[in-house]
Amino acid sequence: MPPVADLTKHTLRLMREYVQRTPHPPSQDYTTLSFYQFRPIAQEDLVKLQYYFLTDLRQMDVVGRIYVSTEGINAQISCPKDRVDEFKKYYAKHWPIFDKIRFNPAMTEGKAFKKLHVRVRTQLVSDGIDNSTFDLNNEPTYLTPEEWHKELSSLSEPPVLIDMRNHYESAIGHFEHSIRPDVTTFRENVDAMLEICQGKEEKDIYMYCTGGIRCTRSGALLKSKGFNSVKMLQGGVTAYGQFIQDRRENMTAAATVDKDEDSGSLATNNEEFRSIYRGKNFTFDKRLGEPITEDVLANCHTCGSPCDEYCNCSNTACNLLMISCPSCQAKHEGTCGSDSCVEMVRELNAKQEQIKKDYPGLIGMKARLGIKPLHEHRLRVRPSTVMEMRKKSSSSNTSGRSVSHKDRARL
Ligand SMILES: [Zn+2]
Ligand SMILES: [Zn+2]
Repeated sequence: MPPVADLTKHTLRLMREYVQRTPHPPSQDYTTLSFYQFRPIAQEDLVKLQYYFLTDLRQMDVVGRIYVSTEGINAQISCPKDRVDEFKKYYAKHWPIFDKIRFNPAMTEGKAFKKLHVRVRTQLVSDGIDNSTFDLNNEPTYLTPEEWHKELSSLSEPPVLIDMRNHYESAIGHFEHSIRPDVTTFRENVDAMLEICQGKEEKDIYMYCTGGIRCTRSGALLKSKGFNSVKMLQGGVTAYGQFIQDRRENMTAAATVDKDEDSGSLATNNEEFRSIYRGKNFTFDKRLGEPITEDVLANCHTCGSPCDEYCNCSNTACNLLMISCPSCQAKHEGTCGSDSCVEMVRELNAKQEQIKKDYPGLIGMKARLGIKPLHEHRLRVRPSTVMEMRKKSSSSNTSGRSVSHKDRARL
């Protein structure tokens, strides 16, 4: 770790502010990568990591979210396409401590983040399990997307295949025959995994998550508990999506050649590379998901029609993460549909229209309310619970009491 002279919290704060205020190139020229590595880092070195990542990555116009902890690093970043090689070389040259990092590209192009954040965390993925109680180096077997695809496609009986993601992630896409625990946090999922695996010590256990980090950790926990054959999808659903996309592109190219040569082999190839993952891969950035197949596995939380588009309620004070179809979006002004949210957004829109008329030079005033959202993501509120509670309260509450805006946002 290189030394940093006189590095104080103040310098770090100034650097962070500078990094976040300066503009970046247009969004279409970006590509998104995720990577992680568990590797012990001294507590006192974390601030240096923050400083170097902020300064060096800013120079490369990289944006995204990087978490560092005494356990290692976990990152999702968007990098200008023409600087990806430079970024990878930078890692290899300056960070030999992260020698096992695999860069995992997202399927869709473009900028998934607006700013660069480098944050210190206690745990990279929080399962609340003390690292001293199991051996993180006792890693599960990594199957490349191709090996995973071949192995799972050729099994004679359904495998023990665990989706290590939360309910809102597996709801819009998952592997065929997967066991999908109905959980809201990784901690709950680890408990569910232990329950599912009970008595199956001699069986092959397969597991997958978005990018692999959750499986690296929970797989090591299983192995430490005496499970011999724990296999995980290397690079997670993101890498599998990339694999399927590459196969499709190769097949299209092969189909053109086949057509020219009048060969009939395409049908066999098609079946061989049929995606065993259905639907979308949920992503933790502004895209909130990328499609792998066209299957729509979920429903609009408001009207129940087939839909897998996640969004947050447009009332920033509510912020509920929900699935909402285009017609509900239009009908409810992009909100979750509660009377208070619809009313508040309509009022704000009307006010903004008035401001535009009164002050034609002033544009783009955002409805920044300075209120903490009611449904912060970390609280993991289920839209179905909110909708049910709303139905119950609307049938029992007929008093029509007058309430202030602030109160209404929290109903
Ligand atoms: Zn709807
Ligand atoms: Zn709302």
